[in-house]
Amino acid sequence: MPPIDDHLAIFDPVTDPDQAERYLTDWPRDAKGRARAILRPRTVEEVAQIVRLCAAAAIPVVPQGGHTGLVAGGVPSADGTEVVVSLERLNHIREIDPANFSMTVEAGCILANLHDVASEHERLFPLALGAQGSCQIGGNVATNAGGLNVLRYGMTRNLVLGIEAVLPDGQIWNGLRKLHKNNTGYDLKQLLIGSEGTLGIVTAVSLRLFPKPTQVETAFLAVENPAAAVALYGLARRDLSDLLSAFELIGHVGVELAQEATPDLRHPLETRSSHYVLMEASASGLVDLSALMQRFLESAMEAGHVLDGTVAANSAQAGALWRIREDLVEGQARRGRHLRTDVSVPISDIAAFLAKTDAALAQAEPNAIPVAYGHVGDGNLHYNVLPPPHMAEGDKPAFLKQCEQVVYAALPEFAGSISAEHGIGRAKLGSYLKGLAPEEKALTEGVKRLFDPKGIMSPGRLFEV
Ligand SMILES: Cc1cc2nc3c(=O)[nH]c(=O)nc-3n(C[C@H](O)[C@H](O)[C@H](O)COP(=O)(O)OP(=O)(O)OC[C@H]3O[C@@H](n4cnc5c(N)ncnc54)[C@H](O)[C@@H]3O)c2cc1C
Repeated sequence: MPPIDDHLAIFDPVTDPDQAERYLTDWPRDAKGRARAILRPRTVEEVAQIVRLCAAAAIPVVPQGGHTGLVAGGVPSADGTEVVVSLERLNHIREIDPANFSMTVEAGCILANLHDVASEHERLFPLALGAQGSCQIGGNVATNAGGLNVLRYGMTRNLVLGIEAVLPDGQIWNGLRKLHKNNTGYDLKQLLIGSEGTLGIVTAVSLRLFPKPTQVETAFLAVENPAAAVALYGLARRDLSDLLSAFELIGHVGVELAQEATPDLRHPLETRSSHYVLMEASASGLVDLSALMQRFLESAMEAGHVLDGTVAANSAQAGALWRIREDLVEGQARRGRHLRTDVSVPISDIAAFLAKTDAALAQAEPNAIPVAYGHVGDGNLHYNVLPPPHMAEGDKPAFLKQCEQVVYAALPEFAGSISAEHGIGRAKLGSYLKGLAPEEKALTEGVKRLFDPKGIMSPGRLFEV
């Protein structure tokens, strides 16, 4: 065994092949890799030692959180040269400061656990996504995750006050401030947020907290079409003001997929429509949220934006409504390999984008089954495509690539993006590089060179090498 592997072996590598499996693949199971070693450091100093050793020997390193990323960024490469650094054992809450509306936590903390900790102190950490029971805050920061509450609280980058990270030469950068305002020079932490493991390993973060809502109103509404959903969104912003926290569009195929995944999931409405909206408003303090919601729904009905609807009477009913949105993702996964996209367009163009893409897809691939849903308030649509039921496995990759091209081809007209929240990783690299302007490419490459001159951090993600 060469000496470097002897050195790495002191960081408790995973050697059992069954145990190793989960570090070599990701949630969608589309990508599978091999690793030179899988290490699980317990402290930031151990992370730094590993990176120093790898930097000295020019061994590539890939950080891993909860393996829920959807663009194959955390999966090691197929050639088995990369060292996987799992952050799962760096999972301590370092501090919670309710008076400062902040908490400082290690990168391996599971997102759902952070919700619980904040809640125990009458605070809210608002980042919420379907994978919250498995994804880690370090992974959320590395991917600048979005999720369900972006319209009110912003993406992960709006929620981070400070960062501690191990840089690609093994130095520890302590940028763990918990200041709500700090205007001193370049905001370096913002470069690490969304860098997908290419500029360093996030080991801890200070997070911004909010008052814990004491009232929540959740409604599931049938609308005639996406244009009606967008009009309804405008009305909700007006009537519910900044208390609106989620506004999701779901097509009827999405509801069917959720019921496929969870057969006892009841359709909440008598009326069947092509599109539905799942919305939530929340408040703390003396606001009468229920009355606000009632008034909003009355004006929405009067304006003809809503065909039918129901408002959850308690948290169990609200949970059942949210399961439709959450379980439709599982329903798609059960149908096997499919196209996942994560595009964004201006909110005002959502209906036009969907109409254009539906028509183009129907013409190019008449047997494709589109499943479009997403976060209306962010202009972020998951325009996914299922192959026809009996398509041979071997034919799916080319078919889905063709469908992806159709979806992406509709974006330039609306100055849209191929990735609203999932990032680039390896899965979207080609399309991302194609869309980069020369000056953007030069600056991006310059930042990478500055942080990681040896190119050891997550090669092949965001950059070709
Ligand atoms: C069911 C489901 C629903 C989802 N919903 C959403 C959603 O609504 N919005 C959304 O934005 N995403 C969503 N995702 C995608 C995913 O959950 C997020 O991208 C999440 O932030 C990834 O976190 P993770 O800990 O699983 O990271 P991983 O998958 O382990 O890693 C993701 C990337 O981050 C890097 N990385 C991980 N940890 C670190 C670290 N500590 N330092 C540096 N780099 C690191 C990895 O190298 C990799 O490139 C969903 C995924 C699933 C499976």
